[in-house]
Parts: sequence; C-alpha cells; structure tokens
Amino acid sequence: MFGNYINGEWISTGATFENRNPANTGEVVGTFVKGTAADIDAAAAAASAAFPGWSATPGPARGNILYKAADILDKSFEAVAADMTREEGKTLPEAKGEVRRAINIFRYFAGEGSRLPGMLVPSERDRVHMFALRKPIGVVGLITPWNFPSAIPAWKLAPALICGNTVVVKPASAAPLSAWRIVEALHQAGIPKGVVNFVAGSGGELGGALVNAAGLKAISFTGSCEIGDWLHAEASKRRLRIQLEMGGKNPTIVLADADFNSAVENVVNAAFFSTGQKCTATSRAIVEDAIYDKFVAAVVERTRKLKVGDGMRPGIDMGPCVDQSQMETVLRYIEMGRQECGEPACGGRRLTEGELANGYFVEPTVFAGVTEAHTIAREEIFGPVLAIMRASGFEDAMRIANAIPFGLSSSIQTTNLSRAFDFIYRAEAGLLTVNLPSAGVEYQLPFGGTKDSSFGPKEQGPAALEFYSDYKTVYLKY
Ligand code: NAP
Repeated sequence: MFGNYINGEWISTGATFENRNPANTGEVVGTFVKGTAADIDAAAAAASAAFPGWSATPGPARGNILYKAADILDKSFEAVAADMTREEGKTLPEAKGEVRRAINIFRYFAGEGSRLPGMLVPSERDRVHMFALRKPIGVVGLITPWNFPSAIPAWKLAPALICGNTVVVKPASAAPLSAWRIVEALHQAGIPKGVVNFVAGSGGELGGALVNAAGLKAISFTGSCEIGDWLHAEASKRRLRIQLEMGGKNPTIVLADADFNSAVENVVNAAFFSTGQKCTATSRAIVEDAIYDKFVAAVVERTRKLKVGDGMRPGIDMGPCVDQSQMETVLRYIEMGRQECGEPACGGRRLTEGELANGYFVEPTVFAGVTEAHTIAREEIFGPVLAIMRASGFEDAMRIANAIPFGLSSSIQTTNLSRAFDFIYRAEAGLLTVNLPSAGVEYQLPFGGTKDSSFGPKEQGPAALEFYSDYKTVYLKY
C-alpha cells in the first residue's frame, strides 16, 4: 500500500486505487490511497505552515537535502527503474535513462542552492548600493502526467524546493509510483515536515481543490491542453502564477541532402520509442519530394524490425500504450487515418498474439501520403503513429511544419548549414533539434514550447528559477 504524504506523515487509510502494469494487466504494481479534497486542503495547510522555516533555511542547506535525496535514489536506481517500466510500460533501458535524468536534475538544482543568482548593478546615484534578491513565492501545486513519471516530477520539485518554496504534488493516476519514490527519497533525506506533500488520486476530483487551496501561490502543470486551459482559467480567478506544458504535433523535416540513414533512424526513434508517448515525439515526417518514396520505404522497413513487447524483456524496442483509454485513442486515430488516407504503409493493428494479449500493445504504424487536410496530420495522438507528408522543397516543408497551433519541438535533417540556420530562426517551436531525433532533451537548458503548447516561463536549466522565484529589489544609501 502506497500512502499519501502529508505534513511529514504517510497516510495509509481511505479508499484506494490500483496501479496496473500496461504490459500485463493482471499485475498490480501498487495499491495507492485515493486522495480527497480534504487531503489536498491538509497538504496545502501543511505546506503553508512549513514555508517560513524552509524559505529561511540557507540555500546550500536546502541543496544538501536534494543531494541526499539524489544519493538515495541512486542507491535504489535499478529497482526504481523497474518500477517505472512496470507502471508506465516504457522499456527498461528507457526507464533507466529517465531515472538517471531525475537523479541528475536533483544534483543540478542542489548546486543552484549555492548560487540562486540575484542581480547587482551600479546605481546612477552617489553612494547608493542597489541589488535584487531572489525570493521564493510560497506554496506551489505541481500536477504531473504519466509519460515521464520520474523526470517531470523531478524537474518541478527540485527547482521549486531549492528556491525555498513548499509544495503539494499530484501525480498522474496511471503512473504514481515513480513520483512516490522521489517523495520517499526526500523523506529519507530528512526534508522537514510539510515542505513536500504528495496526494495521489483522480485529477478530476482533486484539481478543483488544489487550484482553490488556501495559501496556494502557483501551479506548474504538465499534461493535456484541455486540462491546462481549464486550470489556467481557474488559476487566473485567483491570480495564481501558472506554468503550463502541454501537447504537441511535432514535425521532422527531412531534406534531400540529409544523411539518409541517420535521418531514417532519427525519425523512427522519435516516432516510436517510448511508444510515441513523448510530448516531443515526431508525429509528422515532412520529406522533400526528391527522396520521398525512398524515405517512406526505408522507414517502413526499419519500423517493421521494431520488437514490441513487455519492456522488462531484453531486446524489446517498444512497450505498450499506458492504459486502455490511451490505446483506444490510438486505435481510433488509426481508423481515422484509414478512412482519410487509406491503409497504413505498415502497422495499424492492436497486437494480441501470445502474452501480448494481456497488455495494451499497438503496432508501430506509418501512414504515407498524409496531407495537411488529414486529421492525423493536425491532432496530437500520443501513440506510435507516424504521418509521412510530402514537401516540394525546403520552403514548403517549413510552411507545413509551422502551420499548426502547437509549437513544442521541431527537427530538421540536413547537411546544409544555411538550411539548418534558416530552420533554427524560423521554426515555430520551443525546442529544436538538427540531425537528432525531435525527442531527447537534457536538463541543463530551458525546456518548453511556444504557441498553444505552453504558457509561462520555461522549465529546467537556469530558466526554471524564473517560475519558482521572485525578485526583491533593494536600494541602499550608505
Ligand atoms: P492529462 O490528462 O491532462 O493529465 C495530466 C495531469 O493532470 C494528471 O496528473 C491528471 O490526473 C491531472 N488532471 C486531470 N484532470 C485534472 C483537473 N481537472 N484538474 C487538475 N488536474 C487534472 O494528461 P496526460 O494524459 O496525463 O498526459 C498526456 C499529455 O501530456 C499529452 O498531451 C502530452 O503532450 C502532454 N505532455 C506535455 C509535456 C510537455 O512538457 N509539454 C510533457 C509530457 C506530457 P489523473 O491522472 O488523475 O487524471
């Protein structure tokens, strides 16, 4: 039984919900206490009470607790990664990469505790010393999705805590265990009571309580546009600070001058690894006419070689969809693709042979001949479905890439430096890659999208401090 964590206590009573393995739905990965609105209120009250003490704790001392939590996670690295594969479905190597990233994020922000850079500038006036201090904002609500169940809680928790805020975390119901492990590590590292609070349970039931909780000053949310828009409207009524990271429909442009084999590899990697369930996954490959047919054939050949199965098994490339509803969404879009642009070039079915019958497996699916008029070229699917589109040349490819409301990630495959820079300056996305997959980011630089994908300051890297802190400006005559 995995309890909620409120005011330094594990609360293990109340209704529960099951966290099941999407590769084998007979396996219960964990039973979690289903938090209530009253739990959210208690968590926010505990966070408010803890704020004066935590915000007055020197930054380096806050950092020491983050370092300790990172060491604790490191010691149980293998087990935490296995938990993630079992609850989310991504392959074990992918889960290990993510847990490593969460640990690195904690260490990176632990170091920020010794810097927390303010500003010191010369005054126009004689004998006036002027500077700006960075200060925390108060109690922050963190709402996280299931697709990066460890990295996303880590990249919100670590900067929030290092800046001196106290938090209430609400993890995704489909994969709460990875976030729970991080909170457990913080508890074991000696985080003072009330500084971190964890309440699992239905977002639909807890969201209203969180956004209206007394003392709450900010919300950081990663998830769907629908919930993000709703939260934004609610939070604005109270003038809460809010940061939203949401959906995408990310393009990879493939030009005729690209290193062909690596372009194929990058597109297949970005479209299908993690079952396409990355917000930065490539869902549109926009390919220059001159190499279009050859590229489609090569992607199909490569995709057919992907091994689908339980991510705990060695040699598996792609795991299941996270749950039944996500799988049904994917299958619905595949059907829409069939209606609008014909049979997929490969894939297109649910996989139910042998032990795959126990999980939510869908074939990696490639549609060729997709145009901007087709639904699968416009709407986020969040699954292993790639739409390949034809462009007459670079300008046409740029136009297609930008002609959507989303702006999360965008990629180009080219050996032409001028084209690469044209792309960098003109692509309408917050995260760009050149000759790499569109997905796969590090924690040392800002992360986040533009247009309808995001709202508010960026996450990760030094930029993360902007959301989780404020300035106090001082003019001193001596
Ligand atoms: P989601 O349904 O919006 O859920 C995200 C979180 O919000 C979960 O914890 C969910 O709780 C909670 N929630 C649901 N209803 C709520 C409400 N009324 N008030 C407050 N919270 C509520 O999204 P998801 O299906 O987990 O994640 C997939 C989406 O996330 C995709 O659109 C993907 O692109 C996006 N994403 C974006 C980024 C990025 O950085 N831009 C990164 C990862 C994922 P429950 O789980 O209990 O419903």
